[in-house]
Amino acid sequence: MHLAEARFNEKGYSTAKHVRISERDQEILVRLHFAGNQLDFSVHVVPLIDIKSLHLDELRRIAQPSYRAGQIADWLYQKRVTSFAEMTNLPHALRTKLADNLCFGKIEVVRVLGSKDTTRKFLFRLSDNNLIESVLIPASPALYGSPSDRRTICVSTQVGCAYGCKFCASGLDGWKRNLRANEIVNQIMAVEEESGERIDNIVFMGMGEPLANYDNLLRAIQIINAPWGIGIGARHITISTSGLAPQIRKLADQALQIRLAVSLHSASDEIRSRIMPVNRKYNLGALLDACRYFTSRKKQRITFEYILIAQVNDSDEQARQLAKHARAQEAKVNLIPYNRVEGLDWTQPSIDRQKKFLAILRSADVRAALRREKGDDIAAACGQLRLQTERGLAAPALESTG
Ligand code: SF4
Repeated sequence: MHLAEARFNEKGYSTAKHVRISERDQEILVRLHFAGNQLDFSVHVVPLIDIKSLHLDELRRIAQPSYRAGQIADWLYQKRVTSFAEMTNLPHALRTKLADNLCFGKIEVVRVLGSKDTTRKFLFRLSDNNLIESVLIPASPALYGSPSDRRTICVSTQVGCAYGCKFCASGLDGWKRNLRANEIVNQIMAVEEESGERIDNIVFMGMGEPLANYDNLLRAIQIINAPWGIGIGARHITISTSGLAPQIRKLADQALQIRLAVSLHSASDEIRSRIMPVNRKYNLGALLDACRYFTSRKKQRITFEYILIAQVNDSDEQARQLAKHARAQEAKVNLIPYNRVEGLDWTQPSIDRQKKFLAILRSADVRAALRREKGDDIAAACGQLRLQTERGLAAPALESTG
């Protein structure tokens, strides 16, 4: 709980300690000092809703006549202003009303790291000081679906992650909170502004399990996809999940033609449960059933992501089982050699082993590709940069307690 403190002397207010409030439903302890006494009480604060979390019909309910909502969306997503005051074709009274009822959150760029292969990693600070990451991946052969010359952004959906996959940096410090829709949308806009490049492909594969933040994710996707919003086609948006079977089914019943990538990372329950605890809740049978339901509803192929980890999931037998699952689903397979994570012991298989694994898939008529994990030199695997930065920031404090 934050503490707001104010001291009064006989002449009245003397000093105050300001606190920054940003979290929803935050409680603040207020401490007043006066005439040698101290009075404590708590205040429950409900911050304003961020304007970039709203759909057009919601804006219409606030801004009348209804064409004003279109003008607001134009200021937000085409002209990309950063304050209500800049919306100069709106009447002053409406701008005041917006400012009184909504907020205009921004995310702050803390670090941008580029790598030799021009993958760029962005570390952002949210209004509550939490850190998240996005990665901008330059044009490469079609990762998910359509042929590409695309600039793909890998977006985070949570601060940290509760799913604890054993090979992943994002789960190392656990889950902190879900991102709100505006914080998801803002990653894309901030990367476009910072890089000067237009994004045309989005993968929800950054920090967090996207389907565990289903409502905010869907709300953000609707804004990203809408012609009045960022305007990126649904077929250029891919959600990657560690395997939340019920949410995959729910997504299948959504009208949007979004793509699905499933982080399989093992073709058997025994190994998968060892490296991905989510498999103990939704085993391969349940997951593959949900994938079948998704493909039947959407009439599109899904992608299996498979991180190749030496001596863990890279055997010929795993390749054969993976081929069986992929063929049954008509799924594509992306093989990704493991990207080292500080503090974890896993390594990637030799190039020969990687090629052999790929050859087994291809000989079984599976559409498969072997990808080099871009940005190894900038800690591009999800969650690494945030962890390094947070631990770096924490280090002096820990030393001083010594
Ligand atoms: S791989 Fe994805 S689901 Fe698993 S811990 Fe990392 S962020 Fe979470």
